[in-house]
Amino acid sequence: MQTLFEAGAKIIRKLNERGFEAFFVGGCVRDFYMARDIQDVDITTDAKPEEVESLFEKTIDVGKVHGTIIVMAEGTPFEVTTYRTDGIYTDHRHPDEVIFSNRLNEDLKRRDFTMNAMAMAEDYTFHDPYEGREAIEKCEITTVGYASDRFGEDALRMVRALRFMSVLDFGIEEETGVAMTANAHLMKHVSVERIVTEFKKMYNGVALDQAKVKLVRTGLARHIPFFSEITDDDLLKSRVDDLLDELIVQVIRDPSLKGSLHHLKLSNKELHTVKGCAALHEALEKGDHPLEVSYSFDEDILERFAAANDQNHLTQQSSLLQKAQALKLSLPISSKKDLEVDGRDLMELYSSRSGPWIKECLNIIEREVLFGRLKNNHNDIIDWVKTHVKVESASI
Ligand code: ATP
Ligand code: MG
Repeated sequence: MQTLFEAGAKIIRKLNERGFEAFFVGGCVRDFYMARDIQDVDITTDAKPEEVESLFEKTIDVGKVHGTIIVMAEGTPFEVTTYRTDGIYTDHRHPDEVIFSNRLNEDLKRRDFTMNAMAMAEDYTFHDPYEGREAIEKCEITTVGYASDRFGEDALRMVRALRFMSVLDFGIEEETGVAMTANAHLMKHVSVERIVTEFKKMYNGVALDQAKVKLVRTGLARHIPFFSEITDDDLLKSRVDDLLDELIVQVIRDPSLKGSLHHLKLSNKELHTVKGCAALHEALEKGDHPLEVSYSFDEDILERFAAANDQNHLTQQSSLLQKAQALKLSLPISSKKDLEVDGRDLMELYSSRSGPWIKECLNIIEREVLFGRLKNNHNDIIDWVKTHVKVESASI
């Protein structure tokens, strides 16, 4: 942590030498004050983006119009952003225009919560005009300025409040909480991707339960895709510490929710995980053979489901699940690709007659091998095919 600040301090000193103001700002200052681990260090300055670019050797333009330039120092990227005030917000999410400023306090004023609106000089002195440290001492999330206005400007801040509640184990100051309830309906203006990003952090936080209670009590959940379809009870009842696990538990409780998963715009991998766990649940409920279950589902799906099941009792078939997990290590093949014959081998056997029979035949071989009735050995399989597959049927 110290080294991140030391590398950042070099950037600040260089800006200072050229007559510019520059400070550490935002989350890193909050986390430094709270003695929490620091992931990234942001810098705020009165230097304009072009001036920042001209001062440093390695820079990346990531959002010059918004004032942000990345400066590389000792191999680490630092976001250096020009002091700015935000113009009017007509879409309840983004300012219509960004106005550069030369006053630190103006830049701090546009920030969401008092604990996030502190700056720190390279000698570790604080600039804390909105009493962020006091809020931290009280473990309280308070907006900078009038909460209702701030949430009206940018509705994402309400979800950020929940995220910080969970991650920092903080409460929400009264007026801020009241304004969340009053402005909950504005969530419709926020892109689901941004909500999901905050939710992932919220779900990984240490105080998720209290954040979920707030999510329900403020009515925010009613205005968030997918979550709006879960009853308050079901949402509060689940025992999870990850967003995907929440989705898994809810989709298993109410399979009709599967159709709404796509609203969350998850990655294909994430969707595969949630849907895979739901399919595994179905296979278990059907009482499929443990070998079948073991073979049909990836190890991470089995593990993920088992962990969620331990906490939420999703199935009565836990012993079937355990058997399937145990069998995973001794499966003769893990997919069709592992078979020692392929379609070409079969075609050669029957003078290159291709057709759907090849797929059907491979499916049967796959099951014979899986259930241990046939060895996964090229010659054994070919012999088996010769005795079991008739030329006439092969030509269908
Ligand atoms: P983390 O530790 O997760 O990075 P953070 O406080 O640094 O937390 P970021 O999303 O990285 O959060 O934002 C950096 C800073 O930018 C915040 O501390 C806050 O000052 C400001 N900020 C971020 N999002 C908003 C917003 N929607 N409205 C106002 N200020 C914001
Ligand atoms: Mg940050």
